Parts: sequence; C-alpha cells; structure tokens
Amino acid sequence: MQSNKKYSVIDASYVTIAKYQKKLGIAANVVKDCLIENDLYDENSSTVMISCVHPSQARIIDRLRKKGYRCIIGGGGALSPGAFEHAYCIVLGDCFRFIKSLKLHGLEKTIQMENNIFDPQNPKKVFIDQSFPYYLSGKYKNESKEQVFFLSRGCKGACAFCHTRWSIEYSENPNPANIIEKINQCKCKSLMSNDIGSVSFVDELRIDGTAGSYRMIQLIKMKKIPRVVRIGVEGISERIRKAVSKSLSNQSLVDNTLTLWERGASVVRWFMICGFPGENAGDWNELKDCIRALNIFKRKGVLQISFTAFAAEPSTPMSGMTYAADYYDFFSDFKNWYFEIARNPSIGIMQPQGPEALKIKTEYQMHPNNMYVQYIDRELCKKIRDKYFKTMDIIATLMPIKQ
Ligand code: SF4
Repeated sequence: MQSNKKYSVIDASYVTIAKYQKKLGIAANVVKDCLIENDLYDENSSTVMISCVHPSQARIIDRLRKKGYRCIIGGGGALSPGAFEHAYCIVLGDCFRFIKSLKLHGLEKTIQMENNIFDPQNPKKVFIDQSFPYYLSGKYKNESKEQVFFLSRGCKGACAFCHTRWSIEYSENPNPANIIEKINQCKCKSLMSNDIGSVSFVDELRIDGTAGSYRMIQLIKMKKIPRVVRIGVEGISERIRKAVSKSLSNQSLVDNTLTLWERGASVVRWFMICGFPGENAGDWNELKDCIRALNIFKRKGVLQISFTAFAAEPSTPMSGMTYAADYYDFFSDFKNWYFEIARNPSIGIMQPQGPEALKIKTEYQMHPNNMYVQYIDRELCKKIRDKYFKTMDIIATLMPIKQ
C-alpha cells in the first residue's frame, strides 16, 4: 500500500535570510530530487524535510514548528538528534532508505520500523545509516558554480574533538575510475573529502588551481600543491595538538607553511581551535613564536588564521568536557599583541565566537538525548580521552547540560 502524503524541503542554512528563503544547498537538493523521483514532493506541504548542518539550528526548527510546520530533520546536524526537541523526527545518515520506506509505508510506520530514525517523544537506541550516494559525484554544483565530486567521507585520523571521525565510518568513492577522468577534465570543481591528501587515488587527480582541506602530513607528500590550501592545524600549541591526537610540531608548522608558499600555494589557511580544556598562556606563546618565525622569513604568500572556539561534541573522546573559561581573554591578548607588535599585511586573523554564543552551542551539542545514538569505535574513544587528560595533566570538569 502506498502513502499519498507529500513533503516539502527547506535548507536551514538559508531559511532565515529573507531573499534566500527557498534556496537549497546540495544536500537539500539531493533530498528534493529523491522525493520528486518517488512522487512524494509538494512544495506547499507543511510536512517538511529540513537539511541542518549543525545542532544549533534547532532554534530555527522551533520557529518553524510554531508556524505550523511538521519538521523532519536530516543532514550533519541530525547526528546530534538530542538538540532537536521540537522536531517530528530526525533521520540519521543517508536519506534514501528513509524516502524509499516513506513511499512504501508512510511516515508513522517508517518512524517505527527504521533504526536510524529518532523520535524525540519516544527516545530509543538509534544508529547512523552509513551509506552515501557516491554515484551523485559530478551531478551538483555548489554556490561557487563548481561541480562537486565526492571522494571520501569520515576520516582516517583520530582527532579527539572531531564528531566526523567518531560518528561516520571512513569510506572512499567505490568507483574512482569513473570519476578520475571527469575530475581531470573539469576546470571548475570542488573535491569533497575531509582529507584529500589521504584518499588512495589522490595522485591520479589533477588538482592544480583548486582548493581543498588537508592534513599537513599528507599535503607535503603530494605531487601537486593547490593554489589555496586549508589545513586543520587545530591546537594552538604542540602540547595541545599532541593531546588531541593531531601531532604537529611548531617547527613543522612553520617550515611546511614556507614550503607550501614556495611550491605554489598563494594562500595557506590554518584552521585552529582555541579553548581546549587545560589551555594556558604558554600555549598562546607558542603560537606567537610561530608567527614571529614566519615574519622573519618574509616569503611571498598569504596566511589566514581562522579560530573556532572548542565546544565538546557528542560521541567524541572529549564529549562532556568544558571549554577553557578564559579562552576569549587569551585570544584578545593574542590579537592585541599581533596588531600592536607583530602585524604583517600577509597574515590575517579571524576571531572565534564569544563565550555567550559558545555556551549555547555547547548545550545543543551535549543534550542528554544524544546518548541514545550508537556511535562508532567506543573503546578507542575511551583510550583517546584518557590520553588527553594525561597529556594535558588535568582533570577536566564536565559541562552542565540544559535539561
Ligand atoms: S579534525 Fe579533520 S583530520 Fe581530524 S579526525 Fe576530523 S576530519 Fe579527520
């Protein structure tokens, strides 16, 4: 028996911006196309599938519910379902199985039957659907009009703070032969992977002129260096990077940045997380030393340092840990030092969110209902958590959770 019920689609990243309210990103477009294929799409339906990238978008869901929408949540934000108390249900992982089941059984039965759907009114153990539509590689374009190719998802790394690593199994596009030629012929492309450098077929790809995210250790081994390089440096000091299982010495950070400029990267972006539990003034001094060292060499190239404040994510080894209370004061001191003493027109700094916004973000991420999700690698998770405490020599306090 088929259900006659139809669904609309909203992208939570755009819905609050008046002139883009109907705009959809790639993930939301995939859902819409899948609904259309199954004759389940109606743009006027008040039962709406919403693509969320982060649990803090729960505020948007609350507003939509008050306007009379029945909200079904999907996307990366759905992997922390506890935040979405006002959703009708939350779909963890790929949407295709869910939509197929909707077509056959309707919404209510699907919620009861499928083990990757969370109902906030009846919380139960839930799993993340690990499948992924690699076959859609090259079908969609992003906002910059680049054709998007999916190389891998999850990550081979084991960073202690990273939800990506601990919620999704690592996988690569199962049919690289199919996409390598298309990628190499495509001039305007975006290659989706958390770590392009460690994808097994990376050396067969023509990646000149494109941007990508890399781990430094892999990047330096690559034959061709992209023009814009994004590097997840994470901790502001060697000690912190070791504690979060992403070791990189200060010397390597400086040397490799100089090398990347020399080998053709015009812009290098360091993505850094500040406010890890136990972080102190000594850690910030190490970062100052790195900038002093780069200033001495005066090489041609731009460095952009982007800071995000640490907020513990569920399922990770750092789940439940509080951020360093004084992180914003340390950052402000660092910023003043940079602008007053060490300013370099080739180095730009992007600041982290303030303490108020961070507190709200953390509460959404750490909602108790997230404990119903069966995340991967729990044993390894515990070991890495112990290593963090030992390396930082602290006993971190846990975040009070909003009930
Ligand atoms: S932070 Fe980056 S390198 Fe580390 S586990 Fe996550 S995706 Fe991988």
